[in-house]
Amino acid sequence: MNSTNVSLAARRAEAISGGVGIMNQIYARRGSNAEVWDVEGKRFIDFAAGIAVVNTGHCHPKIVEAVHKQVDAFSHTCHHVLPYENYVELAERLNALVPGDFRKKTAFFSTGAEGVENAIKIARASTKRHGVVAFGGGFHGRTYMGMSLTGKVTPYKADFGPMAPHIYHLPFPNDVHGGSSDDTIKAAEKLFKESISVDQIAAIIIEPVQGEGGFYIAPAKLMHWLRTFCDTHGIVMIADEVQSGFARTGKLFAMEHFGVAADLTVMAKGIAGGFPLSAVTGRAEFMDTARPGGIGGTYGGNPVGIAAALAVLDVIENEKLCDRADKLGARLRQRLARIAETCPELKDIRGLGFMVAAEFMKADGQTPNAALVAEIRTQARARGLILLSCGVHDNAIRFLAPLTIQMDVFDEGLDILAASIEAARAVHA
Ligand code: PMP
Repeated sequence: MNSTNVSLAARRAEAISGGVGIMNQIYARRGSNAEVWDVEGKRFIDFAAGIAVVNTGHCHPKIVEAVHKQVDAFSHTCHHVLPYENYVELAERLNALVPGDFRKKTAFFSTGAEGVENAIKIARASTKRHGVVAFGGGFHGRTYMGMSLTGKVTPYKADFGPMAPHIYHLPFPNDVHGGSSDDTIKAAEKLFKESISVDQIAAIIIEPVQGEGGFYIAPAKLMHWLRTFCDTHGIVMIADEVQSGFARTGKLFAMEHFGVAADLTVMAKGIAGGFPLSAVTGRAEFMDTARPGGIGGTYGGNPVGIAAALAVLDVIENEKLCDRADKLGARLRQRLARIAETCPELKDIRGLGFMVAAEFMKADGQTPNAALVAEIRTQARARGLILLSCGVHDNAIRFLAPLTIQMDVFDEGLDILAASIEAARAVHA
């Protein structure tokens, strides 16, 4: 109980692999909605939510209650050995909620990367093809397939090669750094002429809003082109909604903004309010192609995570968190726009719902300013606000506070943000 952040940092340095990065030497003791207290009793406003995981806040009473109830009943039988009802119930609910006007089935796993892995396995088994197309700047996890699909080398891929074979990347359209949907479509035509025949492509995987990559929203034109292209060529379209899902963008799933549905949807993070659970939901005929035992895992669909997920869905519905995401996002954008009036480095404010990022450049207006963003995070931390960065150039701040954040706590966080940006500019503009 007498641990301090400094003493824990020293123990951590001795005990923990250097490859496990951390962003803050702040050791958490307790959390409640959008606030976290560290081992020294200092309070922080949490604009990270465990990287878009506790969308429903830390320790939401309804989720805590559901988890307690499940732990008291049983915590693990392995669904492959002795199945249980809540696994079936959550699958039924997701089959109804995930976009797509077709019959769906679901399978559960433990992490986002594992969900991605299995979506690719299902796509390959369904098409009997091997090629997979992903996007530059995308992030799909740290396993070999997830890492290979990821479109950022350092730190995710450097030194870990060789990557999984038969994976190809297309540029993700980007208003800020250049590149349109037409450029991507042209690159696709070139790829299928020069590198792999289109009839060897099993899947195209896309984040409707890139998460780690910088909160860039896929243009509707690209999304519609992808849907048509996949239909024409018998390719499985996979939406990675790991970061964008579960009300974050003002809809339960970001794909709902585009008016087209993926064949397979990968979910994790916000699905279970902090418990390790992921899911793949999609076309029943695809979800049935793997042989029994070919997908799954010891912990996949653990009943405690499932109980949490069912409670998360209830909370999203009962507390109208999609509407709240829109409200919070609008308030945040307004405040950022005001900050931009006196902060010329703040070049772009973008997002969907409450999945919002602010991108910072140097005085020339076009060179990414990662140093300023790092300083803003340091200044915010000192004032009791936890911020996350993102982007291939690490020059954007992404805002991922819980959708349940109390308005006064949110406004307090925004005041700290404004003060931190001002202080950081004095050091690093
Ligand atoms: N896909 C996306 C879009 C993600 O944002 C992440 C995690 N940041 C992953 C996959 C991997 O999830 P996990 O860390 O749970 O493996």
